[in-house]
Amino acid sequence: MKCPYCGSKEIIKKGKYWRNKEIQRYQCKNCGKKFLEKYTRKVYTEEFKLEVCICAVKRGISEASRIYNVPVVTIIRWIKQLGAKLEKERPPLKKS
Ligand SMILES: [Zn+2]
Repeated sequence: MKCPYCGSKEIIKKGKYWRNKEIQRYQCKNCGKKFLEKYTRKVYTEEFKLEVCICAVKRGISEASRIYNVPVVTIIRWIKQLGAKLEKERPPLKKS
């Protein structure tokens, strides 16, 4: 069991609730987000995201989506995240 938001394994049980079946509620100690037992959004590693983004640039987003079995909207989001990250890390341009 891992946090679906940050991938941390530091999670605590936050009670149960009932909806057709008993569902365990959890809270992540790392990022503080709450989530449910049945919530199974896949956690992707940064390396995997980068690999998919590179593939999307080289071969197209729909092709990358097919190869890695990741939805197109997810890949677009990753590319945007990556672009924002690169922009932050980029050394400022020297003024001449
Ligand atoms: Zn978390």
